[in-house]
Amino acid sequence: MNTTPDAATKDAVDPLAAFPAKFVRSPEVRAYLDGNSLGRPTTASAEQLASFVNDQWGGRLIRGWDESWYELPLTLGDRLGRAVLGAAPGQTFIGDSTTVILYKLIRAALTARPDRSEIVIDTGNFPTDRYLVEGIADELGKTLRWVDPPIDGGVTADQLRAVLTESTAIVVISHVAYRSGHLADMPGITALVHEVGALVLWDTCHSAGVVETELDEWGVDLAVGCTYKYLNGGPGSPAYGYVRAEHIESMTQPIQGWMGSSTPFEMGPGYAPHHGIRRFISGTPSIIGSLAMQDMLGLIEQASIPAIRAKSVALTEFALELVDELLVPLGVTVSSPRNSDERGSHITIDHESFGRVNAELWKQGIIPDFRRPHGIRLGLSPLSTTFAEVQLGIEAIHAAMVK
Ligand SMILES: *Cc1c(COP(=O)(O)O)cnc(C)c1O
Repeated sequence: MNTTPDAATKDAVDPLAAFPAKFVRSPEVRAYLDGNSLGRPTTASAEQLASFVNDQWGGRLIRGWDESWYELPLTLGDRLGRAVLGAAPGQTFIGDSTTVILYKLIRAALTARPDRSEIVIDTGNFPTDRYLVEGIADELGKTLRWVDPPIDGGVTADQLRAVLTESTAIVVISHVAYRSGHLADMPGITALVHEVGALVLWDTCHSAGVVETELDEWGVDLAVGCTYKYLNGGPGSPAYGYVRAEHIESMTQPIQGWMGSSTPFEMGPGYAPHHGIRRFISGTPSIIGSLAMQDMLGLIEQASIPAIRAKSVALTEFALELVDELLVPLGVTVSSPRNSDERGSHITIDHESFGRVNAELWKQGIIPDFRRPHGIRLGLSPLSTTFAEVQLGIEAIHAAMVK
């Protein structure tokens, strides 16, 4: 059956071939193809989490806050900015969930454009992003302007041109679309939004750690992202927010907690925001939740984002070759961009049998993701995924369809 280039050969010449062994690989999982939903743990994290309980938490106890934990949301934010986001220090923080940080930063942007009445978002954006702007529009009496990208694409500059006006306050877009994998033109769209005097918030959940991102250089105003996807922080690890330096002192956020106040330890009356990026923090950060992403950042720093992106492109190209050869003849459609310059690190394929097929694969220890109405999403996390896993997964989809 197999006439495609051999996965084993590709793995053998992979310059990042040493990395998959640095992740916990349970023998029951034969192919993990959902690293864009929840990354595998690194082997370093398995050790670090255990020693944290005994040595850091158990040994330092309350002193840990003074010694390092209190500053961790900002020191780790700076490291993430340097390693992954193209952000100079003092603009990135770690904190709440993505949903909560999105809420805080969209509201913050609206306070900076008080005379403008419209929020632009697309129908293909992740549900939390769409639901949040619906709520915020109700709360503040703003109007939503929807862009409607095709199922195999994402927001483009041409589509945005049709809705941007002098009334636009903020545009909320995903850098990589969660379903199609479409990679939006971050520098081009950011410049376009600025032409009408609006602000842009980029959701980088599906791009951070796999796609080259230069928030500072590309003029991005605000960005948010998850750390449990390609940053392997573990289930529920805290999200990050980025606020461009020039906006920080002029923006305030709505969840005015003590840890972002000007004098957190005075416990006095009345809130005033802290100077600098700390004002975007609300309450006590999850230190345990911030451990594993640090191990992954170490691996990303070793491998470098350009090398990770090259492997990501090679993995998705290989997946598409196999899909074309084995699955398209069975009626499967590709719901992701064909051009790798317009694609992140996952692809989605559709067929009406995929609800059943995905459930069968999970029983075999082959783990892709199912997306309604009938999509299988293959998320190929470059440092932990082998070409052999991709081949095993797509051959298993073929076998389940023809049986
Ligand atoms: C995964 C994801 C989220 C998740 O938000 P949580 O608050 O962590 O549940 C939000 N937006 C996008 C684009 C995502 O891909």
